[in-house]
Amino acid sequence: MGIYNPKSLKAEEFINDDEIRQTIAYAEANKHNIELINKIIEKARPKKTEKGCTCQGLSHREASVLLACDIPEMTKKIYEAAEEIKLSFYGNRIVIFAPLYLSNYCVNGCVYCPYHLKNKRIPRRKLTQEEVKAEVIALQDMGHKRLAIESGEDPVNNPIEYILDCIKTIYSVHHKNGDIRRVNVNIAATTVENYRKLKEAGIGTYILFQETYHKQSYERLHPTGPKHNYAYHTEAMDRAMDGGIDDVGLGVLFGLELYKYEFAGLIMHAEHLEAVHGVGPHTISVPRIKRADDIDPSAFDNGIDDETFAKIVACIRLAVPYTGMIISTRESEEMRSRLLRLGISQVSGGSRTSVGGYTEEKRPHDTEQFDVSDQRSLDEVVCWLMENGHIPSFCTACYREGRTGDRFMALCKNGQILNCCHPNALMTLSEYLEDYASEKTKKVGYSIINKELKRIPTDKVREIAVKNILDIKKSNRRDFRF
Ligand code: SAM
Repeated sequence: MGIYNPKSLKAEEFINDDEIRQTIAYAEANKHNIELINKIIEKARPKKTEKGCTCQGLSHREASVLLACDIPEMTKKIYEAAEEIKLSFYGNRIVIFAPLYLSNYCVNGCVYCPYHLKNKRIPRRKLTQEEVKAEVIALQDMGHKRLAIESGEDPVNNPIEYILDCIKTIYSVHHKNGDIRRVNVNIAATTVENYRKLKEAGIGTYILFQETYHKQSYERLHPTGPKHNYAYHTEAMDRAMDGGIDDVGLGVLFGLELYKYEFAGLIMHAEHLEAVHGVGPHTISVPRIKRADDIDPSAFDNGIDDETFAKIVACIRLAVPYTGMIISTRESEEMRSRLLRLGISQVSGGSRTSVGGYTEEKRPHDTEQFDVSDQRSLDEVVCWLMENGHIPSFCTACYREGRTGDRFMALCKNGQILNCCHPNALMTLSEYLEDYASEKTKKVGYSIINKELKRIPTDKVREIAVKNILDIKKSNRRDFRF
């Protein structure tokens, strides 16, 4: 089983079962220790520095105490601190993306996923490069600039060469004023060599959900196929980073195991990346299990209610302050609205979770990976975000300017977000408004842009942003960025 060591490269030592159990016991013993809880919340809150502000985050033990605490006034304080951190580092910007399902061929036996090998009901589909192109045109016509590609694991049908071809095709499509500027990749754990190939193909974040950190449950839930190997899966981010990928995205599929166990494991994983590679996860996703083709979520008895889910999101925000947090259309409009204030910084919009879903006239359900709760169009999501005081951002500048890994974190820590991310968000929003928005969204959008331009602190930066937005309005010039 091994001894807990965040610097170890062995899964069972950096995600150590004993340490997680002791953490849960420590959290339970201290869940009403108001003095300690106040101290932990205070530690997590942003502190002003000469350059901007900084946050030190929380250890998995500290964060677990907050998660265990069930005193309403304390929960209120946790939520306030989460919102404060969110606004300090991410402001009111929300990054927009869409998933693109390439293939649902899969050799694994994941019991919660309809793509599992034994599912003979689901039609198997794999996009050809022509079909990828058509899907990308449809996504560009909606206004998307950032995608997360998704695929089952199948070395014969979807080998790494297929994924690389798809990435090449996606970046090559420039339809009207559209382009996809960042491709994040959510594919099964693979080798250092393959991660190096993904890096060379110009991917943004490599995303891999752990599903569950609990080894025995993991093995039971992944009974067959290469994904059965817990250590290989859990150590994947280390291989990705060894392959040169700076930005990695963690996630747990909530509902599979006890959430307190998953939460401690997730924060320990973030601590491990920081300890070994000097940079934590670029993003953390918080999917909850959903109904799907032959999957009934009630068969999994660790489902979490909305209140607990909100608390988990807020506690992650306090523990890992610089990480982007992603919520997908698995969640409803109402839930997404609530979570945006507690630390979420990226949302998907207009999503289809089926292979070929963007080009088929009616939203097809037959190859869907899970039911989509938020069925609104991207235009509706963009407008809704703005009406709720957020700025939808289609910005992809950081990674294209080489600000990945710790260089991105430095931008946050040096308080340069308002001089960099803010104008980038406003310029890319203006592109969206000119090229894709409905009249209503356009009106709401420009009134926000005019107001938000005033918040750019440096005169020179503000002047350039104003000039670029005028250019976007008057011409087909696009893709300005700081
Ligand atoms: N095949 C890749 C792998 O094994 O890691 C990743 C791609 S899979 C399309 C993306 C994620 O969807 C999985 O990691 C899992 O967490 C999630 N997922 C699978 N079934 C789900 C369900 N029924 N409800 C919600 N999310 C699900």
